[in-house]
Amino acid sequence: MNQKNIFLKILKKEIKADIIYQDKIVTAFKDIKPKAPVHILIISNTLITSANDINEKNENILTHIFTTAIKIAKKIGIDQTGYRLILNCNKNGGQEIPHLHLHLLGGEYLGDIL
Ligand code: AMP
Repeated sequence: MNQKNIFLKILKKEIKADIIYQDKIVTAFKDIKPKAPVHILIISNTLITSANDINEKNENILTHIFTTAIKIAKKIGIDQTGYRLILNCNKNGGQEIPHLHLHLLGGEYLGDIL
């Protein structure tokens, strides 16, 4: 197992996380160092190292990650005020954990980044 992949340890219940949603394809939990009042990570249950490993065979997982993020945003009531979805890829993209994950951020105005 990749020692840098703490998300696999969360999936295997070897370390605790504040899991708010889980199904056969994805798991969502609160980020340990939140960058906004709402900061949730939605990860694949199978190991997909980065966005570069998405292809025609597993693209349903990426779709499901996004659908889950949107459902969570609606459930916690930030869909109307808005939110930001971020998917970092590799070094220049600022990806720390080599396991596909989407950041769901919201709960306040997040500022302009582009
Ligand atoms: P990234 O930089 O896109 O790879 O994002 C990794 C995220 O994982 C960061 O926002 C970290 O704060 C978060 N993180 C790291 N370890 C944990 C953990 N044990 N539980 C929850 N979130 C974590």
